Amino acid sequence: ENLDKGLSKTKESVFKKLGRAVVGKSKVDDEVLDNLEEVLITSDVGVDTTLKIIERIEARVARDKYMGIDELNSILKEEIVALLDENNSGDVSDFDIPETEKPYVIMVVGVNGVGKTTTIGKLAYQFKQAGKSVVLGASDTFRAAAIEQLEIWAQRVDVPLVKQKMGSDPASVAYDALSSAKAQNADVVIIDTAGRLHNKVNLMNELSKIKKVMARIVPGAPHEVLLILDGSTGQNAFEQAKQFTKATEVTALALTKLDGTAKGGVVIGISDQFKIPVKYIGIGEKMEHLQIFRRREFVESLFS
Ligand code: GDP
Repeated sequence: ENLDKGLSKTKESVFKKLGRAVVGKSKVDDEVLDNLEEVLITSDVGVDTTLKIIERIEARVARDKYMGIDELNSILKEEIVALLDENNSGDVSDFDIPETEKPYVIMVVGVNGVGKTTTIGKLAYQFKQAGKSVVLGASDTFRAAAIEQLEIWAQRVDVPLVKQKMGSDPASVAYDALSSAKAQNADVVIIDTAGRLHNKVNLMNELSKIKKVMARIVPGAPHEVLLILDGSTGQNAFEQAKQFTKATEVTALALTKLDGTAKGGVVIGISDQFKIPVKYIGIGEKMEHLQIFRRREFVESLFS
């Protein structure tokens, strides 16, 4: 229900467009498929992924010789879920972390404005709700506002924040945060980083230095590199995913601001294109507005 509400803009838009795509039709023909292609592309599913989905439906029409319009919606959902299943290793079950890694270290990357700080705050809240102790690290030392915003979230959620002053070495902050987490026997550490994409060499160096320092304190850290993408920016989100996956090894994705856009189809395209699991989706500004991405539930919600 919450998900339906969060995705309402995309849902309404998809619903209208799908209705128009099949108006006056009783069976799926070339024209319907062309229209469907347009619906998916204009919902920001992305051209490549859209073509894959259309091909799958075409193949089914060819095989069965006939597909009634009333079947199209459920077949569309089925094929999208199947496509996402092929590319990913299953949904995350919960806001949970492996017991074997303590502290479990999450390094968060993404450009400014995508909702990085907010997502870190929401994650801290969820982990805390799940009974885990959390430490935050303010390694985005490039902007004073980034540290201040993270501090506000740390207070709101009531978790400790490790920070230094603006301009200090991000790796040094990460060092302090992980040391502190170890000393407190904390379960999770979430480290914010600066996302300055316009200087890629700098970004790569900075992230790899932070990672090296982390691994020295907690072997195997970071256990997760979470890239935050703004779901309302459509093709920009694709581009950022491309850039960041070149700069560092990204292991999970979070797509934010899906409540504010009619283009939530971007989650399907990004999940398919990058073969990196979308773990979380943001559907609002509040603490509770972060959800685990469950592909079946998501697709079901989008196309119903
Ligand atoms: P950062 O610069 O990447 O750290 O971005 P912030 O976390 O400061 O977020 C930028 C703006 O986006 C803020 O106004 C947030 O409240 C807003 N925001 C973040 N996530 C979401 C979301 O899922 N939905 C909505 N509607 N707004 C969001």
